[in-house]
Amino acid sequence: MIVNKLRHHLDASEWDIKVVDRDDVHPYQPGFLFLPFGAYTAKQITRPRRGTLPKGVDFVIGEVDRVDAAANKVALVDGTTLDYDYLIIASGTTPRPDQTPGMLGEEWRRSIFDFYTFEGSKALAEALKKFDHGRLVVHITDMPIKCPVAPLEFTFLAEAWLREKGMRDRVEIIYVTPLPGAFTKPIASERLGSMLDDRKIAVESDFMVERIDVEKKALVSYDEREVPFDLLVTVPLNMGADFVARSGLGDDLNYVPVDKHTLQSKAYPNMFAVGDASDIPASKAGSVAHFSIDIFVDNFMELIAGKPMTGSFDGHANCFIESGDGKGLLIDFNYDTEPLPGTYPLPFVGPMGLLKETRANHLGKLAFRWIYWNILLPGRSMPVPTLMSMVGKKPSNTITKTTK
Ligand SMILES: Cc1cc2nc3c(=O)[nH]c(=O)nc-3n(C[C@H](O)[C@H](O)[C@H](O)COP(=O)(O)OP(=O)(O)OC[C@H]3O[C@@H](n4cnc5c(N)ncnc54)[C@H](O)[C@@H]3O)c2cc1C
Repeated sequence: MIVNKLRHHLDASEWDIKVVDRDDVHPYQPGFLFLPFGAYTAKQITRPRRGTLPKGVDFVIGEVDRVDAAANKVALVDGTTLDYDYLIIASGTTPRPDQTPGMLGEEWRRSIFDFYTFEGSKALAEALKKFDHGRLVVHITDMPIKCPVAPLEFTFLAEAWLREKGMRDRVEIIYVTPLPGAFTKPIASERLGSMLDDRKIAVESDFMVERIDVEKKALVSYDEREVPFDLLVTVPLNMGADFVARSGLGDDLNYVPVDKHTLQSKAYPNMFAVGDASDIPASKAGSVAHFSIDIFVDNFMELIAGKPMTGSFDGHANCFIESGDGKGLLIDFNYDTEPLPGTYPLPFVGPMGLLKETRANHLGKLAFRWIYWNILLPGRSMPVPTLMSMVGKKPSNTITKTTK
């Protein structure tokens, strides 16, 4: 998105732009949620990276080894060194099953799966074909994770899928979370928690996993609770890239500390971190990357013109939540405002409903794959506000309690 937007603004005779990534396969990660249920094929959710970049941008395939920020250099594992005037770190966050004892043991991809990677999601699709009874445990190791609603979506989709296959009464579903409830924000947590109740899905909350007991096939927490499973679908600890740590640029989880309104590194003014790689206190989500990049690009043009950066990102996130049976919810929030009920993007008419299960939200989620490839990645504009708007939202002091 950044290079597709910036290439038009930066004079090609003065500015070289290089993109470095370790391979040439760009996955549409929200599609990993659907692969296990056979709703998408692997082909529908990947494209060559090269094809997503505009003319006039060099694409370098290589693994970043470290950044020497004092010398403005990036070293690749193959020995290549790239000099820069400005560096944008966009190396995301990665599931790390190696960080929980027992997770990567002999049960990995036998009875323990993840769906946060392409390989994991494909392997889980095969496992689900053979699963017809027992305890299905969906688990989050720790926060923050990218797309914090994805484990809930997986749970709702699995429940609906089991019902459709006539197997629901043979499967116990348990949702295990380190949070006190279903989600990080109170109003959404109550709404989503009641949806788990309605579907007879047990919730094991405040569960900080210490290890997996492979012999017993059980999650074990620091406070010595055990949750046995037949099939465990876990979201391993998410961490930023190791090169960030090796370069002395990260926090405890390898995220780059930045100003939360401009994404500028707190340590180096010619460095930015965008998307999941930064430490901003927003959801790690493609929508956050999208909205923040709109602000970043204008700010960057001001910066290189020697002016102060005037754009201020507000942490705007916008996430569809699949709830099964061809329905979904939508949440829209930012640093200061939690997800509220209402309609989006227009008041009264929507067509999307906020914190409400509707068919339009589900169709919106499905349409998003096309929007991603054809509007977002090419850097085209979407007809929705970049900063969160209160238009259509019902402020929390006017909400009447409708859930149990
Ligand atoms: C199952 C699932 C469902 C999701 N659903 C949604 C959703 O519905 N809505 C939403 O908004 N978001 C969703 N997300 C989150 C979204 O996909 C991410 O937030 C988004 O992709 C972040 O973009 P990014 O560019 O920051 O990181 P990424 O897209 O992860 O890209 C990081 C890139 O850095 C490269 N890289 C890392 N380290 C190195 C290195 N050392 N050398 C070279 N290259 C390196 C990687 O290869 C990768 O290409 C979902 C994610 C998952 C896993």
